[in-house]
Amino acid sequence: MSSTLSVSMPAVNNTDRSAIAPLQVPDRLLLGPGPSNADPTVVAAMNHQPIGHLDPAYLQMMDEVQTLLRYAWQTRNPMTFPIAGTGSAAMEATLANTVEPGDKVLVGVKGYFGHRLVDMASRYQADVSTLHKPWGEVFSLSELRQGLETHRPQILALVHAETSTGVCQPLEGVGELCREFDCLLLVDTVTSLGGVPIFLDEWGVDLAYSCSQKGLSCPPGISPFTLSSRAVEKLQQRAAKVPNWYLDATLLAKYWGRDRTYHHTAPVNLTFALREALRLLAEEGLEARWQRHQQTAQKLWTGLADLGLTCHVDAAYRLPTLTTVRVPDGVEAKAVIRQLLTEYNLEIGGGLGELAGKVWRIGLMGHNSQPEKVETLLHALKQVLA
Ligand code: PLP
Repeated sequence: MSSTLSVSMPAVNNTDRSAIAPLQVPDRLLLGPGPSNADPTVVAAMNHQPIGHLDPAYLQMMDEVQTLLRYAWQTRNPMTFPIAGTGSAAMEATLANTVEPGDKVLVGVKGYFGHRLVDMASRYQADVSTLHKPWGEVFSLSELRQGLETHRPQILALVHAETSTGVCQPLEGVGELCREFDCLLLVDTVTSLGGVPIFLDEWGVDLAYSCSQKGLSCPPGISPFTLSSRAVEKLQQRAAKVPNWYLDATLLAKYWGRDRTYHHTAPVNLTFALREALRLLAEEGLEARWQRHQQTAQKLWTGLADLGLTCHVDAAYRLPTLTTVRVPDGVEAKAVIRQLLTEYNLEIGGGLGELAGKVWRIGLMGHNSQPEKVETLLHALKQVLA
């Protein structure tokens, strides 16, 4: 047998055939910008054999996920489903489907993820303009009005919860402004969904995306995406096909809609997880969920002040899900992060972009938004900074 094989096949190169140990994953408390710890109930829900992505039981779960995503986002958009990929895939899906070459896209940049929107929109050949605010501040309605007047875009893109700075961009009135200028409103809700009040329909948001690994207490890899009827209209009026096959919402909608036409093999175990995460959200209720996040964050902010530390963002615009804390003079930000991980099994994040080395980022999202976790963190931080 082996001699027959050796005649027809080249010899296998065993250089990379390393004998590694069975998987062991450290048990960390993830209090950084994400991923956050998944709810143990969600992890248990993932731990099943896969089923077929056209199995009637699976199709029912898909319907349930869609319904509960609408609840989580407070939207009635029929075109609401998760994208198989991380938040960036859902972010790209909003742009890939609605931007046509030469379309004017105005991006409000006030942190790292605003820059990512600029990069992505330009890859779809948008004519991109930007408005800028210092990292840690938000846009006022009059600044947005002025931007729309000057640039007359087809799409205004804003990050609701800027994970790099910890600010929450107020969205009340922005949708009306966009309608006045006949423009679609695109909003990044990656660090707000499931932790911060969101009313997509009330606020007139036309395109939104999020992730699973933060406020929804799920592992990463399956990301909510939604289009309003105005956004769907723009999609339907495209002159050419969506230039990204995998993220084409017209094809995805045939699987998520009544046709159930195969597009790609769904990440079924992640759908189990997301369904469970959304079920837990509905069981708790949005109001209670938002209040829990606000109270837990308040406890953190008080504790940080007691340690003599300063939050980077004004209290009026501070996200309850993500707090940026200024690194005191003379302290090496990375060394503290390293010590918290190695000695306390606890992860927090460093600053991104302009804020690198200047802030730490502390996330209290979903399952991790609990007073005991704040106490654990404050205790560890106090020891490390002593
Ligand atoms: N937008 C914001 C505001 C984020 O915080 C992130 C990730 O943290 C993303 C987009 C991209 O999401 P992902 O890393 O899941 O691709």
